[in-house]
Amino acid sequence: MGKDPISNILYIDLNRKRFWVEDRSDIFEEYLGGVGAATKILEEELPRNADPLGPENVIVLAVGPGTGMYPMSSKTVAVFKSPLTGNWGESHVGGRSAIAIRMSGCGAIVIKGASKIPVYLSIINGKVYFKDASALWGMRSTVTVGRVIREAEPGAGIRTIMRIGIAGERLVRYASVVTETYRHFGRLGLGAVFGSKKLKAILIMGKRTIPVINKRKYREVYDEIYNLVVKSGKTKKYYELGTPVNVLPLNKIKALPTRNLRQSWFEEAEKLSGEYIAETRLGRRVACSHCPVACIHLATIRERYPTEKYFYKTIFVSYDYEPIYSLGSMLGISDTDGVLRLMDAVDVVGLDAMSTGVILAWATEALQKGIIGLNDTIVKLSFGDWKNYIEAVNLIVEQPNEFYKALAMGVDYASRTYGGEDFALSFGGNEMPGYHTGPGAHLTHLTGARHSHLDSAGYSLDQKLLGKELPPPEELMDSLMKEEAWRQILTSFTICLFGRGVYTPETVSKALEPLGFELSPEDLKNLGWKIYAKKFKIKIREGFNVSKLRIPRRIFETPSPHGKLSEEYIERALKYFEKRLMEITSSF
Ligand code: SF4
Repeated sequence: MGKDPISNILYIDLNRKRFWVEDRSDIFEEYLGGVGAATKILEEELPRNADPLGPENVIVLAVGPGTGMYPMSSKTVAVFKSPLTGNWGESHVGGRSAIAIRMSGCGAIVIKGASKIPVYLSIINGKVYFKDASALWGMRSTVTVGRVIREAEPGAGIRTIMRIGIAGERLVRYASVVTETYRHFGRLGLGAVFGSKKLKAILIMGKRTIPVINKRKYREVYDEIYNLVVKSGKTKKYYELGTPVNVLPLNKIKALPTRNLRQSWFEEAEKLSGEYIAETRLGRRVACSHCPVACIHLATIRERYPTEKYFYKTIFVSYDYEPIYSLGSMLGISDTDGVLRLMDAVDVVGLDAMSTGVILAWATEALQKGIIGLNDTIVKLSFGDWKNYIEAVNLIVEQPNEFYKALAMGVDYASRTYGGEDFALSFGGNEMPGYHTGPGAHLTHLTGARHSHLDSAGYSLDQKLLGKELPPPEELMDSLMKEEAWRQILTSFTICLFGRGVYTPETVSKALEPLGFELSPEDLKNLGWKIYAKKFKIKIREGFNVSKLRIPRRIFETPSPHGKLSEEYIERALKYFEKRLMEITSSF
């Protein structure tokens, strides 16, 4: 295989303000890149039982061989120990991040240690400049941080700027990292890990080239994939309405979690639908680099300056299905502008939208039930009241009392402290994604490495099974595990998962060939299992135990499109998962 700078790993030590590059072709040849490479690197670098907010935690950012080469290969993978779950942390982001990392001359960046003073990193063509970020520390808004760095640094149009807001600084366990304003490393608290390292931002840019082993073949495969992406209709729904296209269909089948999942349909879902927001508020679409789909939809809201009668500013808010669920239906908000303003408030301070919505929904129900009082919540939380939810978002960041300190730790922690665990929608310590479609979704949330709907997409399987008898739990579990193993390849090649319909095992195998990899579809599937096994070995090493998984009772109380879920079915599936996991982790 030709020498590709993707095999370089850039190591950065924040303790000593040093950096160095190592050629790790061994890792990139064995694990492709992305998740595969990052998992191997984390295994090497993360000490057992490391404190997620201690200097011993490690952040790995990785891209893959598809980055910059094929359409929709636009994602950067971050792997770290999560301060939210105390276990496997993984989050993916688009924007310009992936191409900027690859063009800077490496395939992965490893950030170790912690700085004593606030810093931001400027990584230009593989060189790292440690910049004093004291003036940025304390800055609430992720938008303002981005704006200041944009003025001070080079690389307009080709750089990525990853940064945290005040939530990351205050170590809210589900703080996000924002990149290019509209994309996020949302899940599992990477923002708090940045905050614990006094790392306010990272700017990356470069102008390297990517070698292609077989240019003619590359052109041929590229055209084939490009045509599939833009002409086959497989990505059309993401372009037209974006992920909010899911609101109405999920509501129709009664799978849209509403008011803390006390019901699974929202009577005013229409006002939160992709169709309605596009018709009334869509300002523009944007795309991650190298993606012709452009699924990112930005709504506009107008805000009048408080002291001037005819002066307005226009705010762009990136909206997706997940924040619409978590900050809309889950909180019973039907006011479209209200939901968008709440999304904006969450984004500005740098919080994960899904976790924030689920936590506020739990707090609202806990207040209604008298488990907590107004002296705890300070503002009256009630479903539908978006203005008070905005105040609560700010209180989560400020943490003025014990209750908000607990909320800043996540719903699992808060409910263990105050009670109300039955309706705290946490799975493996992570707050629930927006799918109450059936057993497949909740098994994905329980058994996926990230406890994310994207791990094995049980929500999709549930919908395919509608109107049919459910398969035995073991069979369903097998399908989910197989899907998760395959997704390790997509995220190692670093394909956006919205492109999964295009990037079949045959297509990925073909796409890798001109880049110097000879891997058949079967080889790729085996490699997927190998990465899956390695990930779970780390997860088990750090304390993951299937038999200790807590299942919120609420999911059994509220009917799904498959009716009320059977506890026995879920338990049987989990037992089988535990057994299979043992087999898989011991065979690699
Ligand atoms: S489909 Fe959307 S999220 Fe995925 S790479 Fe394209 S623009 Fe980014």
